[in-house]
Amino acid sequence: MKFEVLAQYFEKIEETSSRNKMISIMSDLFTEIDEEIIDIAAYFLTGDIAADYRDVKVGLGEEMTKASVAMASNVDESEVESKMKELGDLGDGAAYFYGRRHELYQDELKTGTNLTVDEVHQGLIAIANASGSGSQEEKKRILASLLAASNDLERRYIVRLALGTMRLGAGDMTVLDGLAEAFLGSKDKREPLEHAYNVSSDIGHVAEVLAKSGLDGIKRMRVAINRPLRPMLAQRVDSLTTLMEKIGSEVIAAEEKYDGERIQAHKDGDKTRLYSRRLNEVTGQFPDIVQYVQDHTSAESVILDGEAVAYDFEKEEYYPFQRIMNRRRKYDVEEYAEKIPVQYVVFDILYKNGKSLLTKLYPERRNNLERTVNETAKMKIAGRVTSSKLEAIDEFFQECLDRGLEGVVCKSCGDNSRYRAGAREWSWIKWKPSYASDLSDTLDLVIIGAYAGKGARAGTYGSLLCATYNKEEAVFETVCKLGSGFTDEVLENLPDKLEDAKTDSRPARISATKDIEPDYWFYPKYVAEILSSEITKSPVHTCDGDGDRGLSLRFPRFQNWRPDKSPTDATTTSEIVTMYENQEA
Ligand code: AMP
Repeated sequence: MKFEVLAQYFEKIEETSSRNKMISIMSDLFTEIDEEIIDIAAYFLTGDIAADYRDVKVGLGEEMTKASVAMASNVDESEVESKMKELGDLGDGAAYFYGRRHELYQDELKTGTNLTVDEVHQGLIAIANASGSGSQEEKKRILASLLAASNDLERRYIVRLALGTMRLGAGDMTVLDGLAEAFLGSKDKREPLEHAYNVSSDIGHVAEVLAKSGLDGIKRMRVAINRPLRPMLAQRVDSLTTLMEKIGSEVIAAEEKYDGERIQAHKDGDKTRLYSRRLNEVTGQFPDIVQYVQDHTSAESVILDGEAVAYDFEKEEYYPFQRIMNRRRKYDVEEYAEKIPVQYVVFDILYKNGKSLLTKLYPERRNNLERTVNETAKMKIAGRVTSSKLEAIDEFFQECLDRGLEGVVCKSCGDNSRYRAGAREWSWIKWKPSYASDLSDTLDLVIIGAYAGKGARAGTYGSLLCATYNKEEAVFETVCKLGSGFTDEVLENLPDKLEDAKTDSRPARISATKDIEPDYWFYPKYVAEILSSEITKSPVHTCDGDGDRGLSLRFPRFQNWRPDKSPTDATTTSEIVTMYENQEA
């Protein structure tokens, strides 16, 4: 397929605000495209060039991209700069200069616009892979030659792919809907695709298997080493009694809940790779955990689910979540590994010696985990108590709090206790001290807008517009304005921090009423942890809104940024609805 044809699909998708329309355009695309390159289309639609966990990101900075546009078009960088400012987007800036190509690239020009999807993909991969001395020039040159050989529409999307700002508003689930409609006849048949995606975390691979081997191929897709699974998530309740009712088994295991970073470890012989909750590879950041896994596990190959927690080995004390975030770095890794030592606490085993354990029930997986991991202070298995009595669970919970832990995660020991990758299930319920009293538990909300600051806040933002994620509709819905809880430093840095997500108009997949129209819009990118005291009905917010009254948070206060969560990991609209119902009950 010519890249031009794919770019036309992108344009159509970008222009529609209806999710159903978007799905049907994608379905047409998937039906038309050759099965050999369908994986590329799926990656491009979600703004990537490969599965997230492969860590192949083009990630060209704006400066380098501008330089490439200037090179390809034989114009001055300053000209590109001012066009970009005028049009508000470098992709559109690049498109504007179409027709003014540098003679250097005449050779690379084919007649008309003949770039294929594969050529664009190869070019972007080559940019991502270029490293070492001279690589910056090499990257610029490759991009410039792609741009020189492309027309205006193609230029727009090549630049956006290079910058990592595709933002068609097509989430993973929407792409899966498009695939279901194209190959299974209806988007309502998404479920097996979603399962395949949850265990492989590779939207391109799912698309390719479906196109080549149909539903049978999808059903044969298995857990594999070095392909991270989307982590299972926990529900929450407002009382221990409700917890006992909802969990779905009489016997419950209450496990210690650690406040750190979720890490999935894949050990394959003498190699171990680590993946974050967002499924990025973080092996390089945690050489200590790599070593722990090698030293503490007996199996030849294994996938473990757990939490890395910042830990003082001398004082035997845990540090809060923010501390471990300082280990997110590419440089000075060893130095920080010493400064901020971590303990790796594992709580599940998903695969061992060639076999998936996902369908095994929790008690069997836990036994297996205990047989597989030799515990020390560096790597341990989450402590727990198993009981059918509320008092015993409560006692263990209090004990955990006394030891400085966050609370407990209660897990079903019954028939519903298999591991459900990517799902938030009642068979796992988290229980923290604040859940009982009021809503003073934190929520993770997506920042989608801001209001200009006045008076003491002139020059920064006065408040931010926050949204929940409506998973069923795949849209972000507004739930509150956030104006308090910021430290001076966070407040001052807001414009810088949010700059790369800023956009002139309301992005696709955001539902907001005119009444709360912000001064600035942001693409859903940044997630903040927010404390609130109550949920109330609101005439202006769209969270669970039916056109008139939605739900909103009272007295929201900023706690922290959550770089470990992606926008679709944010608190969902249905979670807010459940919390509201609990609160009213
Ligand atoms: P939350 O991030 O508040 O939704 O809480 C769920 C998170 O708690 C999981 O995603 C894990 O990162 C973390 N966690 C800590 N200890 C455990 C445990 N024993 N079992 C499951 N999750 C745990």
